[in-house]
Amino acid sequence: MADAALSVRNLTKEFAVSGATVTAVDQVSFDVRGGEFFTMLGPSGCGKTTTLRVIAGLEDATSGEITVDGRDFMAVPPQRRNIGMVFQSYALFPHLTIFENVAYGLRLRGTGVDEIARRVAATLALLQLEPYAMRYPAALSGGQQQRVSIARALVYEPTMLLLDEPLANLDAKLRGMMREEIRALQRRLGITTLYVTHDQEEALVMSDRIAIFNAGRIDQLGSGEDLYDRPASLFVADFIGESNILRGQYERDGAGGGWLTRGSWRWRVGRASAERAALDTGSPAALVVRPERIRIVGSNDQVPAEANSVEAAITDVLYLGSDRKYGLTLPDGQRAAVRQQRDGAAGREWPSGERVQLTWSIDDGVLVADPTG
Ligand code: ATP
Repeated sequence: MADAALSVRNLTKEFAVSGATVTAVDQVSFDVRGGEFFTMLGPSGCGKTTTLRVIAGLEDATSGEITVDGRDFMAVPPQRRNIGMVFQSYALFPHLTIFENVAYGLRLRGTGVDEIARRVAATLALLQLEPYAMRYPAALSGGQQQRVSIARALVYEPTMLLLDEPLANLDAKLRGMMREEIRALQRRLGITTLYVTHDQEEALVMSDRIAIFNAGRIDQLGSGEDLYDRPASLFVADFIGESNILRGQYERDGAGGGWLTRGSWRWRVGRASAERAALDTGSPAALVVRPERIRIVGSNDQVPAEANSVEAAITDVLYLGSDRKYGLTLPDGQRAAVRQQRDGAAGREWPSGERVQLTWSIDDGVLVADPTG
């Protein structure tokens, strides 16, 4: 069964480091559906790799439960978990051909010669590596070597595939190609896949769902769209994509929505966002607005009553192919960014130095708590 369902409950992993206890993973719970591509994303040191290693059986958990298809997985010895693992370093044997590198584990397990030949050939074909079967790793590109390490993980016909930053050693262009390759392969095989990365773009492109790790905990779990459009914390808003973050104080109104106030400014908070954030009146809060959700209008133009706005001055204009990106400064010195399609409806170009207003629809502002406020 290559589409095993994984369930992780209250997983905690502590390490003893020179007399002190480091909690690498802190009460983490999540479910991975059968056949899903599930990514653990977060900055360095947030506990993603440790979580993956505990699931693989390379580390013991301090506490918590892991089940696969409802069966206790912690009770299964690591070598019987039937997991395919791929690491950042390809760790191929330099003195063995590609065929032998892929066959190696099967030989160790005492698999018959014919069965090895059949399985290795099928796996090499799957990864389009047949032409390289008799080559040595040094004669392969980085991308091809990483494909061999994926072949080596898949040749066991594992129930799950676990990948830890597999593309981190590749250059940007190759990384882009390999993302799509791995994703297409995963779809074809329907294999439940756990993927670790600190690269948010990689996570967004590849995953069905993403868990954002922050200091050993999951801050938010959802599809890329959920995380981008409805970040649940400042950490997530900051980590996924680019954000304009307007800090202030939250004031509830009587109608389910509210306001974010800051000095003489007051921005309307939509009801859906206010309900999700569920903040008390007076809480330090922030309104997150994505750069492409903001429109620039002239300083004397009328702003629609149902939109929010703030004055700003354009400081720089960047051309990014099909997009134009403006850097701006608000009257209090805060920086802001606006992104527009060059051939879009808002196609007017604004020169650097121009005083303008930024406007956005009330529904495009996401309210989050501001733990630093
Ligand atoms: P990276 O992307 O840098 O690998 P990560 O999110 O995968 O980061 P982990 O490698 O899981 O993070 O590490 C989480 C925390 O646990 C870190 O503070 C790390 O220093 C600590 N840690 C991990 N492994 C050990 C270990 N074997 N002994 C002691 N501390 C460890």
